[in-house]
Amino acid sequence: MKINAYAATEPKAKLTPYSYELGELEPEQVDIKVAYCGICHSDLSMINNDWGMTQYPIVPGHEIIGEVVAAGNAVKNVKIGDKVGLGWTSASCMSCQQCMEGSHHLCADSQGTIVGRHGGFADYVRGHWSWAIPLPDAIDMSKAGPLLCGGITVFSPIILANVKPTDTVGVIGIGGLGHMALKFLKHWGCEVIAFSSNPSKREEILKMGASKVINSKSPEELESIAGKLDFILNTTNVTLDWDSYLSTLAPKGRFHTVGAVLEPMAIAAFSLIMGEKSVGGSPIGSPALTKTMLDFCVRHEIYPTVEEFPFEKVNEAMEHLENGNARFRVVLKK
Ligand code: NAP
Ligand code: ZN
Repeated sequence: MKINAYAATEPKAKLTPYSYELGELEPEQVDIKVAYCGICHSDLSMINNDWGMTQYPIVPGHEIIGEVVAAGNAVKNVKIGDKVGLGWTSASCMSCQQCMEGSHHLCADSQGTIVGRHGGFADYVRGHWSWAIPLPDAIDMSKAGPLLCGGITVFSPIILANVKPTDTVGVIGIGGLGHMALKFLKHWGCEVIAFSSNPSKREEILKMGASKVINSKSPEELESIAGKLDFILNTTNVTLDWDSYLSTLAPKGRFHTVGAVLEPMAIAAFSLIMGEKSVGGSPIGSPALTKTMLDFCVRHEIYPTVEEFPFEKVNEAMEHLENGNARFRVVLKK
């Protein structure tokens, strides 16, 4: 099967048309015809080899919405014709301790959709049936793509940290992930304080439900909410004044990063010790939690705010994200 895709051949390279053959379908694999694909900052980081694990040519794209067009003879849960989503992970071993516990996203042998294999900036993409998440009938497919990576990445910490509706929480960086976090936490019942470095986003952030917008780079502004937050979710990948953020946490508060901060994060021990505070992080979430999140989105009509580009304008779309102009998630449409 010949696949037409867009690929980068070296760090910082533009995406150019690229074709490749997909070999024979394995018994537990499905082929998905791509209808939409969101663009995550991780696509940019992978193109640029920020994490030192990119194999070129790389076909990015891991916020995929499409239809199952082929299924191996041992495929379960989905069938040809089903509308599905595929995110950062496209296979896991299904037999290790983590998979058996339902934490497939923590499987040491899992395969990233764009790590050493080709992703969703393509006609078709292949994955293990367990990661082809069936879409609820009522979902808006044109906006659902970003939920498959960005969405589940910010939904999972709400469950992990046992965030309560009565909590006051903070979200750092109101980009693709951050704006979805803001919407989820608002619907969860929380008071949400947004930390943003971009004053031009302020009005839209307030409309999305934040009670306040604070300059994410201003320790003075952070001081104004000292001791107030039960939970902070960081979605930026840059170095900020982490100790100032820890001082905005209430006792027993938790700071959680999903943003892949490129430098080591400096944190003073006493910033944690005195208030029994903790720091953590997490990747995406399990297939089961992804399905639960999609149902939650349909029930409350929670969708990312998206800007649609045709696939042919993929380089413009990437630049739009890179320049900080995305409002708030770019989605490519076939
Ligand atoms: P994005 O759309 O580019 O949003 C990142 C936001 O961070 C920006 O919108 C901006 O928000 C803020 N920011 C960027 N540069 C900044 C700077 N120099 N100073 C202060 N703030 C800055 O990216 P994304 O797609 O949401 O991804 C965010 C991060 O999560 C990336 O590192 C990505 O690789 C990572 N990620 C991790 C996982 C996981 O499994 N843990 C999954 C998906 C993505 P403001 O304009 O509001 O300041
Ligand atoms: Zn992603």
